[in-house]
Amino acid sequence: MKIKDLLVSGEKTFSFEFFPPKNYSSILELGINIGQLMKLSPSFVSVTYGAGGSTQDASFNLADYINNKIGLTTMAHYTCVNATKEKVAQDLDFFHEKNIENLILLRGDPPKGETKFNNKDGDFHFASDLIEFVEKQNRFCIAAAGYPEAHPEAETLEDDIERLKQKVDKGADFVVTQLFFDNTCYFDFVDKARKAGVKVPIIPGIMPITNFKQIKKFTNMFATKIPEDLIQQLESHQDDLAKTYKIGVDFAIKQCRDLIVNGAPGLHFYTLNKSRATVDIFSSIK
Ligand code: FAD
Repeated sequence: MKIKDLLVSGEKTFSFEFFPPKNYSSILELGINIGQLMKLSPSFVSVTYGAGGSTQDASFNLADYINNKIGLTTMAHYTCVNATKEKVAQDLDFFHEKNIENLILLRGDPPKGETKFNNKDGDFHFASDLIEFVEKQNRFCIAAAGYPEAHPEAETLEDDIERLKQKVDKGADFVVTQLFFDNTCYFDFVDKARKAGVKVPIIPGIMPITNFKQIKKFTNMFATKIPEDLIQQLESHQDDLAKTYKIGVDFAIKQCRDLIVNGAPGLHFYTLNKSRATVDIFSSIK
């Protein structure tokens, strides 16, 4: 099933992101959590690629397993870090053979320790180059990444939206956003993107807060703002995990309701391979 067909039908999509587990206990944990999340009948799930040092094989195997053994519509993440055209063509054959019809195509991040992306061994410089190459094959539904608070390397949000427009013009069928906590950032971004000519659905990315230290790390990495009153609540209970969990989940429930009521085409949850928070949020908004 191509995700763009679901989106065209106007039905709101609910989707979950997983990353390939690195050891035996995290494989078991992921299995249990996918089992819990399957009960929510997600529209699709996605599997990250190369993020956090995972290997290509682990990503491909997990995407294949979820798509073909579990039977959930799967979107594989794929980046062009140091990728040649031959290598990408081979990988696309793999996805096609495994009936994985949905890909989110990304540039990828600079290797650890480097601040500039230098794709000296690859044929692609930006995600839009990769999207153009894949689109020509006419086999896949393609998603691209969007940044409501601008990509950290972009000079302005307007520049970044122009780059997003290029990705859509080259063939992206929809956009999934970076995580954010302030919905006005998302709605302003969608508004600016529409004015710039980006017509495809823009699905917001949601990360439930369950751990204050971890979320501070992510927000620093992605240059994402947390509303001041939420920070204050989290800070005053930072050593109380149960209270932090409740604050985070209550916040996400309100955030998701507001997004859906005000026209977001769906919700994409960054689950971090855990199910509890997503299940609690989802059950409350369904
Ligand atoms: P691009 O769209 O190529 O943009 C990168 C930067 O270049 C931006 O600042 C943009 O403004 C600028 N730019 C674009 N085109 C041009 C141009 N023609 N000229 C000048 N500047 C230009 N990373 C992983 O490693 N694995 C994953 O699985 C993964 N999944 C992700 C999923 C989502 C939903 C999101 C939002 C991000 C994900 N990432 C992943 C992170 C992503 O790889 C990084 O954010 C990366 O730094 C940028 O990727 P991109 O596809 O947005 O790049």
